[in-house]
Amino acid sequence: MPARPLINKIKADPKKWSEKSQCSVAASFKFEYTDIQYRCWHCQTEAVFSALDQKHTFEIKKASINQRRILCETCWSQSLHLAAELNECVVKWDESKCSLKIDEIFLSYWLQLLVEQETYVPYRRDSARKNMLRKLLRIVALSIKTDDVKDGF
Ligand SMILES: [Zn+2]
Repeated sequence: MPARPLINKIKADPKKWSEKSQCSVAASFKFEYTDIQYRCWHCQTEAVFSALDQKHTFEIKKASINQRRILCETCWSQSLHLAAELNECVVKWDESKCSLKIDEIFLSYWLQLLVEQETYVPYRRDSARKNMLRKLLRIVALSIKTDDVKDGF
């Protein structure tokens, strides 16, 4: 069995946190960061939010001290990629709703992205959007069928 990696510790400097984090309870007792081991929510891999990474996240990027990691690095970048793709769908949708609402490929792709995103982010559910896409896909499928019937005559 491989030996567990040594737990790293690094001095914390709460004065460098974001203003909001400095007002938190943690600011009065956080003297050091220690590696936090966790299991990726998506792929179940063991991952580490290292002490050094914590220092960078809270003191340089000024993220909230309450921020926790739930995804490993690979899944995290995949989830960012998904978010960007979804954002692109929204932009396209806003630009050309009329033609896209009957575009089966676009609608299915968007729906698939939303469903996939849920496997990365436990708290983000866009049920309204998914329902709309499913409804539009049903309408598209129905109109295709109707065309088939018409062609038959
Ligand atoms: Zn993962």
